[in-house]
Parts: sequence; structure tokens; C-alpha cells
Amino acid sequence: MKILVTGGLGFIGSHTVVELQQEGFEVIIVDNLSNSSIDVLQGIQSITGKEPIFENIDLRNKVEVQAFFKKHTDLSNVIHFAASKAVGESVEKPLDYYENNISSLVYLLQELQNKPEANFIFSSSCTVYGQAEKMPIDENSPIQPAVSPYGNTKQMGEEIITDTAKVTNMSAILLRYFNPVGAHSSNAIGELPLGVPQNLVPFITQTGIGLRKELSVYGADYDTADGTCIRDYIHVVDLAKAHVVALKRLIDKKNKDKVEVFNLGSGVGSSVLEVIQAFEKVSDQKLAYKIVDRREGDITRAYANTDKANKVLGWKTELSLEDAMASAWKWEQKIRK
Ligand code: NAD
Repeated sequence: MKILVTGGLGFIGSHTVVELQQEGFEVIIVDNLSNSSIDVLQGIQSITGKEPIFENIDLRNKVEVQAFFKKHTDLSNVIHFAASKAVGESVEKPLDYYENNISSLVYLLQELQNKPEANFIFSSSCTVYGQAEKMPIDENSPIQPAVSPYGNTKQMGEEIITDTAKVTNMSAILLRYFNPVGAHSSNAIGELPLGVPQNLVPFITQTGIGLRKELSVYGADYDTADGTCIRDYIHVVDLAKAHVVALKRLIDKKNKDKVEVFNLGSGVGSSVLEVIQAFEKVSDQKLAYKIVDRREGDITRAYANTDKANKVLGWKTELSLEDAMASAWKWEQKIRK
């Protein structure tokens, strides 16, 4: 069975392509390489022995999207990762984010809307919950007003998909990721941030290897055990596997609603200092870091209640934060060579 994976050369997409191929699916990747490298194809192939079909298409180009679906008339299963994801940049360039994350989604859905049957998996984010009142956060936690255009594109994306599913033959699963980290155990694919990393783990590994002087820890006066913010770090391979399970659920028509929502996290909250300690342990070195003032917009804690994904999808995480840090460190050492 053929699956379209948009953004399939990116961090989470590439790991998902591997899992899909290993489960026997035929994968077609669409990516415009705006935040990824063509070398990732080679990395995927070295793990699975199969080169996925790749088309360099910018999903903001409606004509190209239409032509793609005319060529691949049998494509009705889509996992949609392609998006811009830097929260800070989205504040500076809101229209770029609305164009990339919303127009692309609309063009894809327009191609699926008249199919006799279609399945759609969407990369959403725990950012939709904002600072939730109750921890751990379950799927019924209220959606909070978005604090960034990026976050808004995820909320709007969920609504656009839900509205579309209501009036078409398309079913969808919205996956709300917590904080994906780590790399594949083969060390053939991993995260490839362009420029200064926005996320904690690549910043830690780049500091560990000497590319950055030191890590700034934004605030140690939060109401947490060690004063630093708490997040839920999920190994990217565990996350990738959840996509395969979710897709199979739709293909096998096991879904209970046209649109279902699942949190994907480890269910464990880890503080910034605990992540640093995990890195220091697996790399056997001290990390250069300093505590600085709080950063605007950071929430104190967010970690997932994963009961729904565990029970309904029958999925659970298998890898720990230490596994993730060890794989991320191995990957950093490889790419710096
Ligand atoms: P990524 O940047 O590594 O991957 C996204 C891929 O999409 C890249 O390869 C990029 O080149 C491609 N792309 C972007 N715009 C495109 C376009 N117009 N046409 C074709 N290709 C395009 O990001 P990721 O970390 O793998 O994230 C994947 C998805 O998960 C995104 O939707 C992101 O918002 C979401 N998400 C990520 C995180 C995270 O922390 N990484 C957390 C929550 C949600």
C-alpha cells in the first residue's frame, strides 16, 4: 500500500518513513528540502534497503500539488509532516508560517476531498494546550489561545482537518507531539537543525561537541523541584512507530470517529537540569551551561497523559530519555566528522 509522507526527509518524517518501509508500506516522500538534506534518502535506504520514491515539490505551489496527485491517482493515505516549526521565527514572520503551514494543508486536503476514501495523519503539537491546569495533560484538556503564529497554525490545522472530515470520505488522526528527541539506533538518520538550534537537545549536543560555547538555561526559579522547566521528551523512534499504528487504525477502519486525537509523549516530565544530567551521564563529560533569566512565553511544565494512546492505539514508548540522549550524542559526533 502506498503512503504519501510530506516532509519525509525531515527529522520526524525520516524516522517514520523507516518504520513504514519496515512494515511493508511503499512510501512516496514529498519535500522541498527547505529544512532537510537530500542525503537523508541515502540514510533511509541504508537502514531499510529500500529507496523511497522522492519528489521535490513545494506544497505551497497549488499547481504542483495538483499535478502530483494527477500522476499518483492511487494515493489516498497521507502523513503530513511538512511545515515550518520555529516558534520564535513564526512571531517575526507570521505570514510565512500561515502560508506554509495552512496553504499547504488546504491544497493537500483539496486533492483528497473527492476520493472515495482517504486517510490523513496530522502532526499537531502539545502547544495547543498552553499551560494546562492539570498535569499530566490528557486530550480533554482545553485548547488555550495560541501564543505564537506557529501554535496557531497547529490549532487551525486541526480545525481545518476536522471541518473537512465532516463533509468528505476522509478520516483523520491528529497526533499531538510533546518533545521529540534522539536519533535512529543505526546512526544513519537524526536531527539536522539549520543554524542555531531552537530545541534543547540539539543545543546540548552542539555545546557538548564544542560548536556552542555554553547552554543558557532560561530560569531556575520556576515552581519545580530544581527550579527549571519541565517537559515531556519522547524518543523520535517511539514517536515514528505511533504513526504507523495510527495509519493502520485508519486503513483497517478501526477508528471510532472521523477525527481522533492522541497525545504522543513519554508520560514523564523531565526538568532542563535532568536532561543535562542525562547528557552528562551518557557522554561522560560535563556540559558548559549557565542559568539566565526566564524567557518570555515559556510555560512551567507540560507532560502527557498517554493513557488514550496506550489503550486505544495499543502503543507505548519503549525508549528512555537516556536512550534518546545517547543516540542524539552519537549522531552529533557523526555529523560533526
Ligand atoms: P523538520 O523541519 O525536520 O521537517 C519538516 C520537513 O518538511 C522538512 O524536511 C522540510 O524541508 C519540509 N517542508 C517544509 N515546508 C515544506 C513545503 N512547503 N513543501 C514541501 N516540504 C516542506 O520538522 P520535524 O521536527 O520533523 O517536524 C515535523 C512536523 O511535526 C511539523 O509539522 C512540526 O510542526 C511538527 N512538530 C514538531 C515538533 C518538534 O519539536 N520537532 C513538535 C511538535 C510538532
